[in-house]
Amino acid sequence: MRHLIAGNWKMNESPRQARALARQILDLLPEQPGADVLLLPPYPALGPVHSVLAEDGRVALGAQNCHWEDAGAFTGEVSAPMLSDWCQYILVGHSERRHLFGETDEQVRAKLEAVLRSGMRAVLALGETREERDAGKTEEVLTRQCCSGMMGLGRDRILRCTVAYEPVWAIGSGAAAEPSDIADAAAILRSVIEEAASGAASEVRILYGGSVTARTAPVLLGAEGVSGALVGGASLNAAEFCGIVAAAPAHA
Ligand code: PEP
Repeated sequence: MRHLIAGNWKMNESPRQARALARQILDLLPEQPGADVLLLPPYPALGPVHSVLAEDGRVALGAQNCHWEDAGAFTGEVSAPMLSDWCQYILVGHSERRHLFGETDEQVRAKLEAVLRSGMRAVLALGETREERDAGKTEEVLTRQCCSGMMGLGRDRILRCTVAYEPVWAIGSGAAAEPSDIADAAAILRSVIEEAASGAASEVRILYGGSVTARTAPVLLGAEGVSGALVGGASLNAAEFCGIVAAAPAHA
């Protein structure tokens, strides 16, 4: 499976800055990158970044979030159909959405369905907190979050999903998970995916996210069962991000 390297810019970069960063990334990417590449700018930068990426064709575009309804009286929200002109992907369930904004598994599932209903691909982020890990609940939490996202979706929709394992304690901390822990998590997630749709586990990408840098990427991307990375901080630096893309093995 070809790796996917996704850059989550979070609440950073004005439209003008985002366009410049996207151009820098295109300048530094090899003509034929060895991995699929996805950028997730904030909403106001999606149009400007789309105009940079669309004429190049090497990098996909996605949003960091969406509402679960397609339209209506939800002041300040953005729906999946509004994003589908520009985006191929939408990220749902990022730990900052779950923990800072109180999103529940049910809301994440509703958002995932909205993304798929609008014809895009979804990246479902999930992962355990430090407390859950210390309490020995990692498997329980990952199983619950992944089941909530995947069960009953059906094979066709599951194949349009990517799962991003992001242990909450590793995000932005500078301390990435160990490759053996990532491999264990990937195995748990694959078994849930397999249960949700027989034969799908080998076709769904599982990304690792949490303090990935160009220096740590070769080891982290080599973890068993991992087929890419969701990158936060390091994706705001074009050289660093392209270094991570370059570290992706040509075949998982
Ligand atoms: C993220 O926010 O998805 C993330 C993985 O952040 P960082 O790479 O900065 O740890």
